[in-house]
Amino acid sequence: MIDLDNTLVDRAAAFRTWAELFHRRYVPADPSAVAWLVHADADGYEPRDRLALSVRDRFGLSPRAYSELVNDLRQGMADHLEVDPQVPAALKAARTGGWTVAVVTNGDVEQQERKLRLTKLDEEVDTWVISAAVGVKKPDPEIFRHAARSAGTELDGAWMIGDSAHADIAGAYNLSLRSVWVRRGRPWQEEAFAPTMTADTCQQAIELAVASSPA
Ligand SMILES: [Mg+2]
Repeated sequence: MIDLDNTLVDRAAAFRTWAELFHRRYVPADPSAVAWLVHADADGYEPRDRLALSVRDRFGLSPRAYSELVNDLRQGMADHLEVDPQVPAALKAARTGGWTVAVVTNGDVEQQERKLRLTKLDEEVDTWVISAAVGVKKPDPEIFRHAARSAGTELDGAWMIGDSAHADIAGAYNLSLRSVWVRRGRPWQEEAFAPTMTADTCQQAIELAVASSPA
């Protein structure tokens, strides 16, 4: 199982690209706009409606600019997403080796499916489970069980790969599953649990999991 945002795709870079366009278009005279937007977004964990209101208030947006902003946030920056070409290659190799790959992601169905489609990652995985579609979010064990059912397999022997300690690694830990944490330049800070392995990139994480056990 593998996370989508900031694991399979570089959501942080896509948000920054969008923030730079927003800055140039609406608030070119504000030198701190991009840094403020990136901070306020909190890697996507700030609820979108609340983020839209704080952006509107911070920059004094017109109703028209506000409605464009809401639309952009709803679409999840999917137009700006890029995928490291090594990632589909690693997924192909894993599946050729007999692994079944399920994306497990917290978020809105339309938004997350749009990301999968635009990046063509939908063609590189067997299935996906989106929290809004199943009514449970990572780290709830039930979302991982949904993924196994959707893939027509068992959780036994599964790996979870992701960048979030709280959502991905704690989720795996609670089910006694093995996990690879995608570090993104950060140190591990949790004491109560830890990933089985740590990787610098998504590609490396997939390769580590595949190399550590047979499918
Ligand atoms: Mg993530």
